[in-house]
Amino acid sequence: MSHISENIKKYREQMPEGVTLVAVSKTKPVSDLMEAYEVGQRIFGENKIQEMAAKWEEMPKDIEWHMIGHVQRNKVKYMAPFVNLIHAVDSLKLLKEINKEALKNNRTINCLLQVKIADEDSKFGLSQEDTTALLTSENLQDLKNIKIIGLMGMATFTDNQDQIISEFKVLKSCFDTLQKDHPQLTQLSMGMSADFKLAIEEGSTMVRIGSSIFGARNYN
Ligand SMILES: *Cc1c(COP(=O)(O)O)cnc(C)c1O
Repeated sequence: MSHISENIKKYREQMPEGVTLVAVSKTKPVSDLMEAYEVGQRIFGENKIQEMAAKWEEMPKDIEWHMIGHVQRNKVKYMAPFVNLIHAVDSLKLLKEINKEALKNNRTINCLLQVKIADEDSKFGLSQEDTTALLTSENLQDLKNIKIIGLMGMATFTDNQDQIISEFKVLKSCFDTLQKDHPQLTQLSMGMSADFKLAIEEGSTMVRIGSSIFGARNYN
């Protein structure tokens, strides 16, 4: 028996006001997503563009699809017709591509800039300096079909809670500083299954929770 609907209900109840639950459904079959849908979940996060597009085609159209993974520029076109939020934007080149494809579809696509806060090489993301530079870049003014609405970050994969907390604090303070000059930044996407409580305490407005809702993932 699956516990997806109970888990979704439990997590939705736990979300404080102003914190959005993104149900991370990557690798999971549409039947699992539909269980979450049936109990009211409408925001799903995926990390592979083609997998997300296939699910979008098959599922009800009132779902908001979030791309949470690293984005390859040549695949932006597959999600441009429907994606609601791209969490992990880390270059002007990518923003230009998203803008181009959004324009073709007559849409504005919301984006978050991914800031590197973990001390791991494997994590993508911009330095704080590059984030600031990107937000103030003149080139950005020309991109009318994208909107940068916040920041996203991932803490180091560790059991050390103090380290996780201090990384979240770095991201929150970067967010607060940038928000003063860029009031369109309203969303701070941080926190996953293992650290979402800490993330919410540190000011997250969007948590991305996968395995503790849908169960462990099988990668083949
Ligand atoms: C997979 C993934 C998540 C969810 O991770 P869980 O530990 O399963 O909750 C969150 N954010 C990103 C960017 C991911 O790739």
